Amino acid sequence: MLHATADFAAGRVPDATAEPAMDAGSTLRSTSAASFDPAVVSQYRITDEPYYLPVRDELAQFEAAYAARLPLMLKGPTGCGKTRFVEHMAWRLGRPLVTVSCNEDTTASDLIGRFLLDANGTYWQDGPLTLAARAGAICYLDEVVEARQDTVVAIHPLTDARRSLSLDRKNELVHAHPDFQLVISYNPGYQRMLKDLKPSTKQRFVALDFHYPAPEVERDIVMHEGRVPRGVAEKLVAIGGKMRNLKGHGLEEGASTRMLVYAATLIGRGIAPLAACSMALVQPISDDPDMLDALENVVLGFFE
Ligand code: ADP
Repeated sequence: MLHATADFAAGRVPDATAEPAMDAGSTLRSTSAASFDPAVVSQYRITDEPYYLPVRDELAQFEAAYAARLPLMLKGPTGCGKTRFVEHMAWRLGRPLVTVSCNEDTTASDLIGRFLLDANGTYWQDGPLTLAARAGAICYLDEVVEARQDTVVAIHPLTDARRSLSLDRKNELVHAHPDFQLVISYNPGYQRMLKDLKPSTKQRFVALDFHYPAPEVERDIVMHEGRVPRGVAEKLVAIGGKMRNLKGHGLEEGASTRMLVYAATLIGRGIAPLAACSMALVQPISDDPDMLDALENVVLGFFE
């Protein structure tokens, strides 16, 4: 399957060494449809339907939020289908999708843009958020809570009636294209102890709560994605369910749908089920010898 979703890994844009100071005397330039390179945007178009099995009413709910251009937050544990869902919806709505995987080094400039230097002097390079706002794309900020606080504040004006983005260094105010939508993902369980989004940020979004899919749905996903027979997928899903019960009893997070798909993929490629489960489900999730034993025993209950 072709996924045309390009990913702006945060920090990949070279660092600016020469950022001209803003001319204090100049007026702010306001642009409603500033130019962007269609060739650049076309790489963010999703041409083939990304496989996505709906879990409940989320397709209609996303469509309604998009129709009203409401900023959307996808809440849920890692690996439960949030990214695939956005890819599917961008394809359904015929919008380019610009994805940014945020991390603790992600700054506002990584999203908005910066001046770069070449042989001809300095030039401005739009960041992924600015590009999406200009081009009318869906911008998906994955794990935005990881980014630095200035990043989160920078997106605020895009989430309310202003729908604008201030490029302070360039002295420009970009008014988002009418088709632009902002989507963020957020893992509440994981972040609670470490970082959290401020209520003033959360309240700017409508939210869809994601969980691991119901067993029959997850079985079909594992069958499709891992290309394994139904019986194998059922066992993997049952193992996943038991592992999820250990969350909070020594496991920080339960086994994700992604992990089950990985186990199925290895089995589909000829790895014995016990070894595949060890590689994909047991070893990546814990380093504690007792927990590893317990998890291997869970697997032994289903595969020999
Ligand atoms: P997240 O963004 O929540 O971390 P992903 O969207 O990357 O998780 O999901 C991980 C994998 O799980 C996907 O690549 C896909 O194979 C599978 N998956 C999870 N939920 C679904 C679903 N509802 N339909 C199809 N595939 C799914």
